[in-house]
Amino acid sequence: MIELTKENYYDLNTLYDYMDKSTFLDFDKCELAALAKINGSWKPTSNPEALLVGNYVHSALESDEAHEAFIKENESSILSHSGTSKGKPKKAYKQADQMIQALKSDEWFKDHYAPGEKEVIVTGELFGHQWKGKIDSLDLDNGVFYDLKTTADFTKRWNEESRQREPFIYNGHYELQMAVYQQLINQTFGKMCEPVIVGITKQTPPDMQAFDFESDGAKAAMANALEVVKNKQDHFWNVLMGEEPPKACGHCDYCRTKVHLTDPVPFDMYDWPE
Ligand SMILES: [Zn+2]
Repeated sequence: MIELTKENYYDLNTLYDYMDKSTFLDFDKCELAALAKINGSWKPTSNPEALLVGNYVHSALESDEAHEAFIKENESSILSHSGTSKGKPKKAYKQADQMIQALKSDEWFKDHYAPGEKEVIVTGELFGHQWKGKIDSLDLDNGVFYDLKTTADFTKRWNEESRQREPFIYNGHYELQMAVYQQLINQTFGKMCEPVIVGITKQTPPDMQAFDFESDGAKAAMANALEVVKNKQDHFWNVLMGEEPPKACGHCDYCRTKVHLTDPVPFDMYDWPE
């Protein structure tokens, strides 16, 4: 089994040893696409800038050294290549600087998120399988861990299934991530810690809110999420190991790269995408 370090944490080959929350949610959406992503035959094209901007903000709140290293490594993506802003940071990064400024100058943030240990790798076994996680900020002394989420705004994310806009915490299945991380921290350090999500929007100026999971409803959602992991992951692991065939959802970005016309089917009997 691969030993995880900061350098190899995101390597695709670690996913054959450890499940993580993104991979689990990928499998839950479309097994065929998840498999193609892991074996490297497909790279999703969906908005790499949003991901990069999120990582830019995270690195700034980790340490000055981490932020400088991140900027150096991603300079060509961060700096504009044309127009009057040539050589200066693109709009999304100027906006990200406002988010960083808002968080760094906030008193609650300074007292809570800022002191914790950053980017802590945790591992553990959930229902017979190994998992990995990375904690944005871990405060073991006070029994709290923090996850920083950047989002366009708090309520406008689109749910493909319900065809509705919904709050970002529901949309990202963060109750599952928090439930898994709570278990992994306990297995790594022997302490049950309470999750807190620090949400910040990409609006100008940004909106900010910290969310805990201490209500009965939130606790039930986390317990339910672990049940979902328990019930679904055996099959996902079997698919990953080539022991069961992957199910294709038929309509996601990956499945649509494989689409071709066949003889017509009656329109009223077609299995329409949800
Ligand atoms: Zn699919």
